[in-house]
Amino acid sequence: MATSDRNPAIEVRDLVTHYGNTEILHGVNVTVYEGEIMIIMGGSGSGKSTLLRYLLGLSIPTSGNISILGKDITKLDAMEMQELRKNMGVAFQGGALLSSMTVGENVQLPLFEHTRLDRKTMQIMARMKLEVVNLGGFEDLMPAQLSGGMIKRAAVARAIVMDPKLMFFDEPSAGLDPVVAAELDELILRLRDAMQMTIVVVTHELQSAFKIADRITVLDRGNILMSGTVEEVRASGNERIQSLLNRRPSTEELAADEYLERLTRI
Ligand code: ADP
Repeated sequence: MATSDRNPAIEVRDLVTHYGNTEILHGVNVTVYEGEIMIIMGGSGSGKSTLLRYLLGLSIPTSGNISILGKDITKLDAMEMQELRKNMGVAFQGGALLSSMTVGENVQLPLFEHTRLDRKTMQIMARMKLEVVNLGGFEDLMPAQLSGGMIKRAAVARAIVMDPKLMFFDEPSAGLDPVVAAELDELILRLRDAMQMTIVVVTHELQSAFKIADRITVLDRGNILMSGTVEEVRASGNERIQSLLNRRPSTEELAADEYLERLTRI
């Protein structure tokens, strides 16, 4: 379906944000339509994680509007934001499963937090979601018994246990070997196709971006260079986009180091 026939799930208008006195996003506009996978791409320090923070309502912007599922989150109070968050699943880097709980209990956590379902129902729901991520039958294992890729998939199962309409992924393939990263790409596609989710993925992995994107938004130094389909981005005459796609090694190697350094700092 053409994006023009769809409703927007996310609309960001003229978003300006600061860290201290430094302006980071300089008036960003992005629309993500229902049922599409939007990739937020850009070099290190371009503002991808910052944009994600604001989409998740974790910080208040200096100016601009962010509409999520029809609600302007810059104007919601804490209770309204909490309600909206039930429709927003997030898979952060690292997965962050609680090591003292089984995989199944980890997946049930949002149900404990947000619902009053009985224990048995929660177990069944968790099991169903573990099946979606190809971890059926693993619910009684402890996180330490899982591989890195399995932990990521279990974290996705936890993020979708409430059937969110929107799913956010932050660098899903970071630290994974190519085969495991490809499995995660397949899973993201499955969430869109089988569960009709709208999905935003922040990544600097070009291969993965091109494989799963319906559209790509390219950020550069706090500005959006373009939003378009894979073909449109590839065909862009913009020099900075082409340089990003061709990965000029001198700048990108440095960027990757910086990125790793930041990851390990968190
Ligand atoms: P990306 O995710 O694309 O690597 P970020 O959104 O993390 O980029 O960073 C965008 C800019 O904001 C960078 O210049 C970075 O140094 C700066 N920045 C990020 N986080 C903070 C912070 N907590 N405090 C101050 N500056 C920050």
